[in-house]
Amino acid sequence: MAARGRSLPGMRGLATVPSYVVMQPTTLCNLDCAYCYLPLRAADRRMPLAVAEAVAVSVNRWTTAGRFSVVWHGGEPLAAGREQLAALMAPFGPEVEHHVQTNATLIDDAWCEFFAAHQMRVSVSVDGPRERNGDRVTRAGRPAYDRIVRGVAALRRHGLPFSALAVVNDPVPGRATELYDYCLDLGCEVLGVNIEETEGVNTRDNSHDATTVTGFWAELLAAWRRDPRIHLREVEWSLRYAAAVLDGTADELLPRRLDPIPTVAYDGSVVVLSPELAGFTDPRYGDFTSGNVLTTPLHAILADAERTTWVGEFMAGVEACRSSCPYFGFCGGGHAANRYFELGRFDGTETEHCRNSKIRLLEGVLEHARDHQSPGA
Ligand code: SF4
Repeated sequence: MAARGRSLPGMRGLATVPSYVVMQPTTLCNLDCAYCYLPLRAADRRMPLAVAEAVAVSVNRWTTAGRFSVVWHGGEPLAAGREQLAALMAPFGPEVEHHVQTNATLIDDAWCEFFAAHQMRVSVSVDGPRERNGDRVTRAGRPAYDRIVRGVAALRRHGLPFSALAVVNDPVPGRATELYDYCLDLGCEVLGVNIEETEGVNTRDNSHDATTVTGFWAELLAAWRRDPRIHLREVEWSLRYAAAVLDGTADELLPRRLDPIPTVAYDGSVVVLSPELAGFTDPRYGDFTSGNVLTTPLHAILADAERTTWVGEFMAGVEACRSSCPYFGFCGGGHAANRYFELGRFDGTETEHCRNSKIRLLEGVLEHARDHQSPGA
């Protein structure tokens, strides 16, 4: 099923217009999750208004081509407070759709009214039932689960739709069904599932037995097929790819240029492709930034981002993937941060992350399909 990478057309660098922009209103997070990658989450470094105003100049230009999303991501974005977040959102035009990725612990009625007033789309981080949230703790080391659930209850009380993002650190049999059933009860509309990644300040090992992880994804697909009320991000990607392979259009799924997905850090510095690189430095790659919106417009930074040392190396890695990996047509070459934090450079190919979350995902979906094909098909 996986289309051979060698036959696929090459990438032609980074797109100059992203599909969305990630903004960091504060570095601070009120939680201290064991698997978090963020280096500055104990410090409250706030984004000044001038940064948001500068980003909005570029973003408001891009909305002339249609809807455009800004994703507020931290730290914990709600830790910036409603007044600060409203001020940072104000320079963006009415065509901009605002999203927030939150740990949910600060959500109350006032925040729900804020989300409704700003038509803000909410995604909450929760890892399944209480006993699966042991890594999600407060700064004092106490479980955050009750506070997460209270935040979700507030969203439901206000009739606000929301997505959920779950980190799975132990993809053993039974875990996928448990997670999916939990999310059905939680009431989310969309579920994204991340197998824990070794990146940023999280150095925990993320290698798993191949058969077990493949089984996890197959089980998740089976759970979804029994009651497909939730959009299941990873499974829907896989099914879209499988359908495209079958009807001969898989090549059209891969973008010809990579989406730069710029992250604008609290201080206006811009990191492309991988938010997880923001806040780190390396003797070979410097601070990974491609510029700062306080001195250069975001659209100009993106027009030149390919010149950033590590980005060129990453593009070479994507080409190496294209010519060597049978999963390239589905994956498109993986994530920059996973290469850096696992391999120490950007021009390698396979990582534990891509094995867990690309290769075994696709294999799991195919395993499920093989097990459920109709007799005689
Ligand atoms: S990142 Fe991994 S799965 Fe993706 S194309 Fe490269 S080697 Fe293949």
